[in-house]
Amino acid sequence: MQIEYPTTVSDAVDVLASWPDATLLSGGTDLMVEVNYRHRRLDQVVALRRIAELAEMDSAWIGAGVTHARLERSPWQGLAEAARTVGSPQIRSVGTIGGNLGTASPAGDTFPFLAAVDAAIVLRSASGVRTLPWDEFFTGPKQNARRPGELIAGVQLPEAVPARQAFAKVGRRSAMVIAIVSACVTRNEDGDVTVALGAVGPTVLRARQAEAMINAERRLTDTMLDEFQRLVADEVQPIDDIRASAAYRRHASGVLARRLLERVW
Ligand SMILES: Cc1cc2nc3c(=O)[nH]c(=O)nc-3n(C[C@H](O)[C@H](O)[C@H](O)COP(=O)(O)OP(=O)(O)OC[C@H]3O[C@@H](n4cnc5c(N)ncnc54)[C@H](O)[C@@H]3O)c2cc1C
Repeated sequence: MQIEYPTTVSDAVDVLASWPDATLLSGGTDLMVEVNYRHRRLDQVVALRRIAELAEMDSAWIGAGVTHARLERSPWQGLAEAARTVGSPQIRSVGTIGGNLGTASPAGDTFPFLAAVDAAIVLRSASGVRTLPWDEFFTGPKQNARRPGELIAGVQLPEAVPARQAFAKVGRRSAMVIAIVSACVTRNEDGDVTVALGAVGPTVLRARQAEAMINAERRLTDTMLDEFQRLVADEVQPIDDIRASAAYRRHASGVLARRLLERVW
């Protein structure tokens, strides 16, 4: 196995220009599980942890190397709440948002926030920068639009992130659990609501009809809440798997989104 330890993004993309199919290594919390189970063989590895610029974070930028432990203390409540639910303290101290995006599991806990605020994913390669809206980046279960020779540099947030955000996740126990359903609901100063859900479709998704209904009504009655819950449950695309049935996921999606809407209202 060959391994390189670049210390700048520019050096990393130069390495990737000659090793376009190299495996990128951040915290290793997903990758090393795959290697240990022999689901993945490593020939060429580019280790990213020595690249300080990947760990930069400001009011509208989250570098790919920012760990969940740092996101727990970030100013975005919906993301901080999500990061707090990831794995254990050990996982959160090394697992990164870039690795979460690289794996692109439908249950990745940072994604409902990214979808709810319309974040974009920034990719770098020797030929330049590509910025993809979240819904173009995620292409299927554990699939994303990253091309050979590219690395995920970070996440670009819109200038105005809605002030009110709430995240919650349903799992089989209260910690160290992969989501059966996760959701983030936001509300901006004009009263506009967004709703994003994870683990209930091939990729994270937005409940656009539920958003349109509540944004047209702009008031919260029990009837509105019932209708919002019904529309969310209708819009998700869950499957049966070892963690839960599709029917349970559909029901839990509506209930979770309804509770979060009440929190941000
Ligand atoms: C016990 C345990 C519990 C977990 N719990 C949760 C949980 O609750 N919620 C959750 O969402 N996840 C969970 N995970 C999964 C994992 O911790 C997260 O997905 C984490 O964010 C991965 O980040 P990492 O830096 O460790 O990625 P790595 O393992 O280093 O990489 C993951 C993938 O992304 C690629 N990659 C890494 N960095 C980049 C980059 N900059 N550009 C392009 N590709 C890149 C790698 O090649 C690899 O394919 C858990 C994992 C374990 C082992």
